[in-house]
Amino acid sequence: MSHLSHSSSLNKVLRQQYLSLPQEDLCLVTYVWIKGVDLHIKTRTMDSVPKSIADIPEWHSSGSPVFEILLAPVCMFRDPFLLDPNKLVLCEVLKHTREPGESNHRNSCNKVMEKVKNLHPWFGMEQEYTLFGVDGHPFGWPRFGFPKPQGLYHCSVGADRAFGRDIVECHYKACLYAGIKIGGINAEVMPSQWEFQVGPCEGIEMGDHLWMARFLLHRVCEDFGVVATLDPKPMKGDWNGAGCHVNVSTVHTREEGGIWHIEKAIENLRKRHEEHLRVYDPHCGEDNKRRLTGLHTTSSITEFSAGVANRKASIRIPHQVAQDKRGYFEDRRPAANCDPYAVTCTIARTCMLEEEDVHELE
Ligand code: ADP
Ligand code: MN
Ligand code: MN
Ligand code: MN
Repeated sequence: MSHLSHSSSLNKVLRQQYLSLPQEDLCLVTYVWIKGVDLHIKTRTMDSVPKSIADIPEWHSSGSPVFEILLAPVCMFRDPFLLDPNKLVLCEVLKHTREPGESNHRNSCNKVMEKVKNLHPWFGMEQEYTLFGVDGHPFGWPRFGFPKPQGLYHCSVGADRAFGRDIVECHYKACLYAGIKIGGINAEVMPSQWEFQVGPCEGIEMGDHLWMARFLLHRVCEDFGVVATLDPKPMKGDWNGAGCHVNVSTVHTREEGGIWHIEKAIENLRKRHEEHLRVYDPHCGEDNKRRLTGLHTTSSITEFSAGVANRKASIRIPHQVAQDKRGYFEDRRPAANCDPYAVTCTIARTCMLEEEDVHELE
């Protein structure tokens, strides 16, 4: 089996001829939704171009064998594949009863974000991922044996150490075109591992933008014939895992002397370490057990820690933030395959919600 997919070798010049056919006043709208940890899509024709999310109707999909699920549009982006005026639309999944679907973490996240909106919570997430061939072998790794040990790959340049940059840069441009708040990219510690950053985003926008950025990543990878995995420890042994660090601030932490509010938030997080780890990967901490070993610039899964400029702590206060005595903190525990709605929701609950608000939500 070849490491690139069959689809990726189809004739792209021919494809371009059809894609550039005029489409009159019609608009192709691709609905994107989350099912478990996977993304699903389907596309429909609308007879005018939607101006805002309010112009996009609900749709449905066959969810379970019995009942269909409802797709409720929540966020609209430009489509970097079918191009303007076509749209990508992120949807919340609802049951036929209109209750939130099982893997819909957005609904409850949004309720918490509404409660804390006066604090203007900002989040920035660092999504790490690893490229694989369709044969399940890490992209660019030798067929037999291993690449050179880690140490020369992080932020690297050169054909012998940066594997798959085309994908990373095309994804970057696709995100910008779509309207995603992508902040940057870099090569990671393990060969074929990369990172992109999304943010700062306020409140519910963090989950919306990161999920759509993940969709674009999988879709760009499909074009190139490779697969991006968010598995938090794709290769056993002396190879780094993949996380999704989340950076957090509020109006209080950002103003003068805000470090005091950061320290208060860290004390709250310390009390709820286990609870947070259950939320930080889709398998209630099991996935992160493989990654948070205390090795490979990770903290231990069993012990909470915090420190200035410390990349082996659960929570890191960046050097600059300690110096300015204001800014944000970084929670390094979320796994690459975490649900950003669940992660930002639980951080907002722990660090920003007052006791009485918590009771009201329950
Ligand atoms: P690292 O040094 O941990 O690799 P990165 O540069 O990869 O840091 O990521 C930093 C992240 O912090 C970005 O996602 C950015 O959006 C986010 N960020 C910066 N300032 C703030 C802030 N005030 N509040 C929340 N997030 C922030
Ligand atoms: Mn980073
Ligand atoms: Mn990183
Ligand atoms: Mn980081």
